Amino acid sequence: MTKTYNFCAGPAMIPEPVMKKAQAELINWNGLGTSVMEVSHRDKPFLALAKQAEIDLRELMNIPDNYHVFFMHGGGRAQFAAVVNNFLGEQGRALYLISGQWSQLAADEAKKLVPEEQIDTVSISNHQNKDETKSVTLPDFTGDVRQFRYLHYCPNETVDGIEIFDDIDSPWPIIADMSSNILSRDIDVSKFAVIYAGAQKNIGPSGLSIAIVREDMLQLPSLPQPTIFSYQAQLENNSMYNTPPTFAWYLAAEVFKWLKQIGGVSYIEKINRDKAELLYAAIDASDNFYNDVASQNRSLMNVTFHMKDKSKQAHFLTEAESHGLVALKGHRFVGGLRASIYNAMSMEGVNTLAQFIKRY
Ligand code: PMP
Repeated sequence: MTKTYNFCAGPAMIPEPVMKKAQAELINWNGLGTSVMEVSHRDKPFLALAKQAEIDLRELMNIPDNYHVFFMHGGGRAQFAAVVNNFLGEQGRALYLISGQWSQLAADEAKKLVPEEQIDTVSISNHQNKDETKSVTLPDFTGDVRQFRYLHYCPNETVDGIEIFDDIDSPWPIIADMSSNILSRDIDVSKFAVIYAGAQKNIGPSGLSIAIVREDMLQLPSLPQPTIFSYQAQLENNSMYNTPPTFAWYLAAEVFKWLKQIGGVSYIEKINRDKAELLYAAIDASDNFYNDVASQNRSLMNVTFHMKDKSKQAHFLTEAESHGLVALKGHRFVGGLRASIYNAMSMEGVNTLAQFIKRY
């Protein structure tokens, strides 16, 4: 049977050793004779799992002690609303940098929740029309006296294949949606006030979200909101105000163990950079395909590409699939092709795709 390489943007591949372990202990976890799905989240075995997951994530990301880590429901989009409700109150204003689809959607959600004048947006993308090279320029905020409770941005635009590698020099606390690049490369957590991510790319199954929140942010006035999205309630209840998505939490914990075991974030970053380089090189060298993102903003996780002759795309996708290379269709908003190569995608998988692109 042809080996399947799954390039889905999310829900995405989960590391094979983790899936095998989960399979082996599916109906008998921890010697309890039941699945992890069937035990109380308030009993010792699950509490131990939850504690270890947090310890491992803190170690992997080098999270300072003055940050809380929350395991929450609702994926990335729940956090779009949570940051607004937790930090803006009735008066606070926020600035959203728009670099692509997901940062735009985060700003759109914010504008639904508070009066529009509380949300400022600034486009940082340099491509006005679809055929131009895509890149971003970070604004210079020197001397900016506006009062914002936070600046929100998305360092990796999953749909557009745009990644922002430079730090943002911001006079306001920075909130980053790292749904599609968390744990993919070393970052300095202390430069952020809040980092959040939906789990279904580099962490585990969809539905779970992780929020890493600097302690002082909890002093900001919040808006009335469903209690499950209140960071204060998460803090007071150790992320167990209501029944958490326990199986997703368990798989996340196993992914963290796996990542630690293979060498941690610096190790995977090197592999991620090699994988991306190999794939972009194959696309650039090909007569049939092109990538339209400027080299300094090419995503390490989501490699978007297009066919010069668009009429061949359906054929390419069918052929690729018959070679085990699946889920290469671009996002429905933008079309084209996309290979998502998160931490769980092996170099072998990327190489197989690169060779296929070369031959096509
Ligand atoms: N932000 C980014 C950067 C994403 O890629 C996604 C999902 N693809 C989301 C937010 C939304 O995540 P969810 O579907 O879990 O709400």
